[in-house]
Amino acid sequence: MRVLAIPMRTRFRGITTREVVLVEGTAGWGEWSPFVEYDAAEAAPWLACAREAAAGDWPASLRASVPVNVTVPAVGPEQAHAIVLAGGCRTAKVKVAEPGQTLAEDQARLEAVRDALGADGAIRVDANGGWSVDEAVRAIALLERAAGGLEYAEQPVASVEDLALVRRRVGVRIAADESIRRAADPYRVRDLEAADVAVLKVQPLGGVRACLRIAEDIGLPVVVSSALETSVGIAAGLALAAALPALPYACGLATVQLLTDDVAVAPLLPVDGALPVGAPVVDPAALDRLAAAPDRVAWWQRRLEEVGR
Ligand SMILES: [Mg+2]
Repeated sequence: MRVLAIPMRTRFRGITTREVVLVEGTAGWGEWSPFVEYDAAEAAPWLACAREAAAGDWPASLRASVPVNVTVPAVGPEQAHAIVLAGGCRTAKVKVAEPGQTLAEDQARLEAVRDALGADGAIRVDANGGWSVDEAVRAIALLERAAGGLEYAEQPVASVEDLALVRRRVGVRIAADESIRRAADPYRVRDLEAADVAVLKVQPLGGVRACLRIAEDIGLPVVVSSALETSVGIAAGLALAAALPALPYACGLATVQLLTDDVAVAPLLPVDGALPVGAPVVDPAALDRLAAAPDRVAWWQRRLEEVGR
């Protein structure tokens, strides 16, 4: 097991350094990177995903590459424009409803993203549950206009019941993310007809095979998304995207560039808006260069003992 601390380019989901654990098994490396505030129960499925990868226990791939979106954090319009241009992707996912920011800031960011992407690109927004039902209905209409069309709005409100209410009041497709991966019952989204799209993340949902089962049972188009992983963790998401019978939307797996460094010899950065399927080769020099401080290694060792028990 190797514990790494990788500085991030932009503050994202409240953190500036991403701590990850790589575990080596018979078939290669797996990534275990639950966020530090998660308790043992919430971190357990993440470990199952790492062990599945390290054992090489992935389903067969149906495709060799996966189209991906560029992710635009809650930055100003100029930076948003530059991020979209640099990505080379035809789909952009834009963070909105950031605490402390206004709807006008979201609108300006979306206008800049449309300008950079051109008329034929697809734009989706992710509010991470930051709105009330009424706020979401109003914001989605305004942001759809600012963006010149939205592919979908991801998790506009926090609860699955509210998600179902919003879905009935807006003309934009609704995607469920936290309502699946942090819910006691991911199938409430299906039962309440609360979403049009299911966002699946392999670590929080217990691995590639577990996600494939959820995708089958939930009966919605799936967007595979990352949990801010290194190339090792991203490869597991790509394994899921490659195994899905249908993949109508670009996946949220182009997030290695949100980190300042990576562990792979060839980091999984998009080329022509797509990522290749397959396990990356880990660079031993990167494991040394990115090694976490001894107190953090000890903290993760204690955590692994607690979760892996
Ligand atoms: Mg999300």
